[in-house]
Amino acid sequence: MSDGADASGQALCKKCKKQTNSGPKCITCGANYHTICAKLIKKAKFINDNEVNCCAVSDTGEISDCESLAQSEDTFSSLRNEIKYLKTIIDHKDVSSRN
Ligand SMILES: [Zn+2]
Ligand SMILES: [Zn+2]
Repeated sequence: MSDGADASGQALCKKCKKQTNSGPKCITCGANYHTICAKLIKKAKFINDNEVNCCAVSDTGEISDCESLAQSEDTFSSLRNEIKYLKTIIDHKDVSSRN
């Protein structure tokens, strides 16, 4: 298993992909972060200075940055459909309120 960390102590920050020698590590997936980077991840929960949980699934069902990126196109098109649908409703409302 390679989670970005190895015995030599070199680790790559999961967020910015740069080497991090210190900083919190995810207790769930073992990903390493810079303290600043971990703070940029909204759903990451700090347990203490050295431990973070970036895998805590949020209420919105987000799992990870990568997966939400992969899904963003689908989400976008379904959002557009929803907006279209909502606009249709609003149009109808306009018509009916004028009558
Ligand atoms: Zn970083
Ligand atoms: Zn994690």
